[in-house]
Amino acid sequence: MVVDSDSIERVGVIGAGNMGHGIAEVVALAGYEVVMRDVEEDLVRDGYEDIEWSLNKLAEKGIVDQSPDAVLERIDTTTDLAAAADGADLVIEAAPEQLSIKHDIFEELDEAAPEDAILASNTSSLSITTIAEGTERPDQVLGLHFFNPPVKMDLVEVIYGEGTSDATADAGYEFVESIGKTPIRVRKDVHGFVVNSVLGPFASEPAWMVSRDEATIRGADATMVHERGYPMGPFELADMNGIDIGYHVRKEADIPIPPIMQERVDAGNLGRKSGAGYYDYEDGDGADYGPDDAGDFDWFRVEAMMVNEGAKLVGNDVATPEAVDTGMRLGAGFPEGICRRGDALGLDDVLEKLQELHETYGDERYEPDGYLVDLVEAGHTGEEAGRGFYEYDAGDGPGEYSTINWALEDDGLLEIEFDRPERLNAMNGDLADAVVDLLDSIDEDAVRAVTFEGAGDRAFCAGADITGFASIEPAKQSEPTPVYGTIAEFPRPTLAKIDGYCLGAGLEMALACDLRIATTDSEFGFPEINLGLLPGGGGTQRTMRMIGDARAKELVFRGEHIAAERAENWGLINRAVDPADYDDVVAAFVHDLVTGPPIALRKAKRVMNEGRDQDLDAALDMESQAFALLLTTDDAKEGAAAFAEDREPEFTGE
Ligand code: NAD
Repeated sequence: MVVDSDSIERVGVIGAGNMGHGIAEVVALAGYEVVMRDVEEDLVRDGYEDIEWSLNKLAEKGIVDQSPDAVLERIDTTTDLAAAADGADLVIEAAPEQLSIKHDIFEELDEAAPEDAILASNTSSLSITTIAEGTERPDQVLGLHFFNPPVKMDLVEVIYGEGTSDATADAGYEFVESIGKTPIRVRKDVHGFVVNSVLGPFASEPAWMVSRDEATIRGADATMVHERGYPMGPFELADMNGIDIGYHVRKEADIPIPPIMQERVDAGNLGRKSGAGYYDYEDGDGADYGPDDAGDFDWFRVEAMMVNEGAKLVGNDVATPEAVDTGMRLGAGFPEGICRRGDALGLDDVLEKLQELHETYGDERYEPDGYLVDLVEAGHTGEEAGRGFYEYDAGDGPGEYSTINWALEDDGLLEIEFDRPERLNAMNGDLADAVVDLLDSIDEDAVRAVTFEGAGDRAFCAGADITGFASIEPAKQSEPTPVYGTIAEFPRPTLAKIDGYCLGAGLEMALACDLRIATTDSEFGFPEINLGLLPGGGGTQRTMRMIGDARAKELVFRGEHIAAERAENWGLINRAVDPADYDDVVAAFVHDLVTGPPIALRKAKRVMNEGRDQDLDAALDMESQAFALLLTTDDAKEGAAAFAEDREPEFTGE
């Protein structure tokens, strides 16, 4: 019998290095008792001090409100493996990436840990099945692959070995959720699991292309970042991680090594840590590519190969498209998942590209996966066809969106959540289109109020996703997204629930709402000026009308952030509230909006929005016409009756 996730109380962590100490920290932060083990006393002490340092930083920045001491009290250290396993419900191993070391550890853990305990490995590239062979309980062994650094990175891959039972995987999955991380299921322990499988071509294909003089290092990095929206270029990333790391993983797995990679490793130029790699960090300026270097790089080749990796994972039942995409967004900071990107590119074009490459080079790494071929043959070529990896809603009503979540509650509250937490919910074209499509297609009569908020705990929306800017053609740029007008004109009251960054395009969406409530941790601003731009979604105009010229110009001209209290004083938001009171204050506002008289609210919104831009007489005329019309409604009668009878009115919108 394996433990279920609810009975996990005590967690052993094997290894106090880079990953081990970080894992111990996040597990203790979530309230578990932790015992962390390394082989020498001073290694354990180093790890413990790293945790202490990190907890102090988190507390200083207000990211966690537990005292570092309280968290540290939950962490014991030892050099004795049996002591770390004794009484543990779950043990997570983060020792060096060598099979022999892991085998020894798992054999010992099997002896020392309670019979129902789960044994997990944080390995990045070894087979869980093989690691489990050292134990008598392969059904209770799984991979829990955290990303570096565990404190910051949200993703954990939950990996099945051949023998892993569903009960073990479920417990692992729920455990990951309980520590506030996002798990994805990886149902087979294929090499690289999900994230590193898809990242494979991102890292190595540009290296092959440069080796063959088909591309330049700067051109590849600049194009992938400035045109395709990736957070880092492939060469910059390799320098940061250490070129030797990718090199050894390839060697071990018998994957051919691009010549340029071999050269760097032979010369000892391993990246940042050795002062030089693909870029020069000692005598040069490091990764100094810029938008001007972009353009002349065949990015489609790299993306087609990544989509092909996605197809292998989905077709072989390793992971669902949703799991692959969540993995790529949270684990590698991709602007959108690779399956979703494949659907947007068109899977038929992707297939054609791979076939061309395969013919030209005759290399098996370009060989299209069978699942990709099946999708295209079935006509499931992506978004335009209505179906690819995903199904797309072809009907008139709102559907599912990859960049926002939404729900319409029974009381008429439409809740909209911006869902790009890995990008601080930055607005890209898809997100803006999704909001517009939802508000345009939802049945207005079923909605009585709308709230907007950001996913994760760091941002409402931190601005426009500028990584994609260079790829937007000037003609397209001059057509601003209709999202702000759509929000402003939606005929129901709208409320922005702000917790964290509310900047640039995010602030413009919040200003397009009728009301704004923020936690005191929130920050506001228009940083556009620092990019040589101005806020182009109503930021200059709505702000002036709302808070006056002087304050609006301060925000726009200086590009600085202001705190929530100042935003409240300036009239930019309705309330700045302590995080502890935030939910109650929001609930009180929402209650009034969803139970208020629908017609009167709609009329009031319209008269106030439109009247503001008219001269006073015209605006007063609008107001009195609206007032006269409301007198004839059932809601007005109900309001009067309820007042006379001293009860809550029940408005029907008639
Ligand atoms: P690391 O070298 O920083 O730490 C490993 C620690 O394990 C060292 O302190 C070492 O003394 C200790 N150790 C060695 N033998 C041990 C034993 N028998 N018992 C307990 N501790 C022992 O390495 P790391 O970067 O933390 O990587 C650890 C594991 O995590 C590897 O499997 C790696 O593949 C995986 N991983 C690493 C990263 C990353 O970016 N560094 C990301 C995800 C997963």
